[in-house]
Amino acid sequence: MRIRDFALKDLPRATKQSAWLDIAPRADGGNWQLPLLTIIGADDGPTLLVLAGVHGDEYEGIAAIPQIYRLTQARELRGRLVMAPVCNMPAYEAAQRSSPIDGLNLARVFPGDIDSTITRRIAGWLCQKLLPHADFLIDLHTGGIAYELPTLIGYVHDDGALGQASLAAAAAFGAPVMWGHPLPLPAGRSISAATSLGIPSLYTEARGGGGCDVDVVACFRDGVLNVMKRLGMIRGDLNRRRLTHHLVGDGNLDTVIHAPVAGFFQREVSLLEHVKAGQRLGAILDAAGAESAQVKADRDGLIIMLRGLPRVQAGDGIAHIAQPRHKKK
Ligand SMILES: [Zn+2]
Repeated sequence: MRIRDFALKDLPRATKQSAWLDIAPRADGGNWQLPLLTIIGADDGPTLLVLAGVHGDEYEGIAAIPQIYRLTQARELRGRLVMAPVCNMPAYEAAQRSSPIDGLNLARVFPGDIDSTITRRIAGWLCQKLLPHADFLIDLHTGGIAYELPTLIGYVHDDGALGQASLAAAAAFGAPVMWGHPLPLPAGRSISAATSLGIPSLYTEARGGGGCDVDVVACFRDGVLNVMKRLGMIRGDLNRRRLTHHLVGDGNLDTVIHAPVAGFFQREVSLLEHVKAGQRLGAILDAAGAESAQVKADRDGLIIMLRGLPRVQAGDGIAHIAQPRHKKK
């Protein structure tokens, strides 16, 4: 089916179905498609939209969604569960973060444009056909091949109704780390598009590295089911991981500590380690092992993101530091 012809409201009650929606023509005569798993409950209730594969090299969310689909029965559901396990099919096929076709990062082009190139087109259709019908959004990310982050749930840190709904859902999700981001959120993300529509949202991160960690998959699966319980969509007790860290900060992984030169990044710190401004985090080595540059902390806080892939180009992100919740910047 063409995504142009798809309408969530046309799906019958008490049904589960998987669909492949045509987004754009491919060079081989086929179509770039969006796989969509939907469960329409027997009773009215909220609509939860769950996205994964916005970046093509982040696998735990892609693995969690089919598990959530199998575990959720339409007759036991209030409302609608709408899940897109691989949003960025061109990037997924190429096993890379951004699209090999137009070079764009899907998580920087929301709300997109259905008349533009493939990446903006995907964002545009998600924003036209799915997001406006959602009462809540969860976007499942990890660090991908190049970056490592602790398993965390990111939420909107704000005293307004949207922020409070996001915080309550983050607490229900039950990841080991909570990370709140004050408004305004950086532009172009699915959660910034949701926020501009007044829709509360969450996103995840995890270690990444190009693998698919079963514990992370289980945390994401249980977390989405926990949020469904919190929203009154299904019954049952919450199954949460113990909270170890609650952090706040801008969360903009585009404004991180960058590699000053190309080379081999050798780390000297670990994820969630406390560091002081000016502290050495590691070094960039040349191919003979000589040190080309130091990498230092730009502020006090905890290491929330760290480069996992050692080979870096000048300007690549190396590390990001977040603050514990009780400290105001
Ligand atoms: Zn991502």
